[in-house]
Amino acid sequence: MNNIFADLGISDKVMNFGEEVLLTLKERFEQIDKNAEYNQAKVISAMQKNRVSATCFAGSTGYGYDDVGRDTLERVYADIFHTEAALVRPQITCGTHALAVALSANLLPGDELLSPVGRPYDTLEEVIGIRESKCSLKEYGVSYREVELLDGGKFDFDGIRKAINDKTKVVTIQRSKGYKTRPTFSVKQIGELISFVKSIKPDVICMVDNCYGEFVELIEPSDVGADMTVGSLIKNPGGGLAISGGYIAGTKECVERCAYRLSAPGLGQEVGANFGIIASLYEGLFLAPTVVASALKGAIFAANIYEKLGFKVVPNSTESRHDIIQAVELGSPEKMIAFCCGIQAAAPVDSFAEPVPAPMPGYDNDVIMAAGTFVQGSSIELSADGPIREPYAVYFQGGLTWAHAKLGILMSLQKLIEADLVDID
Ligand SMILES: *Cc1c(COP(=O)(O)O)cnc(C)c1O
Repeated sequence: MNNIFADLGISDKVMNFGEEVLLTLKERFEQIDKNAEYNQAKVISAMQKNRVSATCFAGSTGYGYDDVGRDTLERVYADIFHTEAALVRPQITCGTHALAVALSANLLPGDELLSPVGRPYDTLEEVIGIRESKCSLKEYGVSYREVELLDGGKFDFDGIRKAINDKTKVVTIQRSKGYKTRPTFSVKQIGELISFVKSIKPDVICMVDNCYGEFVELIEPSDVGADMTVGSLIKNPGGGLAISGGYIAGTKECVERCAYRLSAPGLGQEVGANFGIIASLYEGLFLAPTVVASALKGAIFAANIYEKLGFKVVPNSTESRHDIIQAVELGSPEKMIAFCCGIQAAAPVDSFAEPVPAPMPGYDNDVIMAAGTFVQGSSIELSADGPIREPYAVYFQGGLTWAHAKLGILMSLQKLIEADLVDID
């Protein structure tokens, strides 16, 4: 075993360090496999109920009228999320796009958007207009308010009550931490927040940014009152096979508005060719629960490795998981670069490339990204990234297989040791 890893560049010392850590993780990995089994059954059940058949895999072109595969896939998603409707489209280019569609479809001039969980994900800043941008919600006359989280990532219920007003129309709740080191919220916590918000203003629309959260737990935000649950198909629910796309699962009214926004008023969900990629969206969804399980094992392995080495990791080595992201506060740009070089060097694709920090569209700081992926930028595949700013944390996620996630983490440690930035003696 060690020989093949030695060929890949992993020393015996690093290998043995990893094996020691692994010995302590057996029970947690078993629990993850159990969750995956449940979610696998949920996906299969939704596919059976909607009579998925080979005819669903046919490509469509042009307007995409009567695309049975597309329409059936949307019903499958709606059943998995227990919602009235879903919009699942390759034309949704990424998670930011899905969120922008969901927000702009449901907010009109004079309305207000509230984030009760602090500042949202970086790319949403321009969507909302927190950072000036053409076509932001702000430019269209939608105002925005946010309520910071309290210490320890707790909801500021008093502050939220005060922030809700006559204009509040949509509340946006980000499940995952994004490039922050706050905790990720459990679906149960999100449910408590939604109940609280609706107890103050029952007709407010609650949208959850579910990026990286799908299939981590047994329930989704839509099971606890979210009116829209939104995510990217090149993250969890695409299972690594979807080559593009996003989804919005929610109430019929909200989803219909999203479809009108995405295509055009009056056309909605009736149009949108699938360009022949629909089979990969089905197959990816089918694989997603086990792929998420691999990614979770990788995240927990990384947390245990790096915590043992004295780094702050979020979540920590023993905490329960509500998304697939592992933050490791490395404390310096050099360590971030070495870590990312390790992830890149372990990749099946572009393993020869060397990640360097660079500006990225939608982000304020330089960002470093390691992603030797089959699908460009796909972060359900093994990847690591982070903005070059305090506390110099890398965000590690994905892994289509556990074996690859493990290799990537060991390689990151190897690179840190080789650069004299970490010592395991
Ligand atoms: C990934 C992500 C997004 C969307 O990012 P894209 O790169 O546009 O897909 C939004 N919110 C969170 C929390 C995310 O992790």
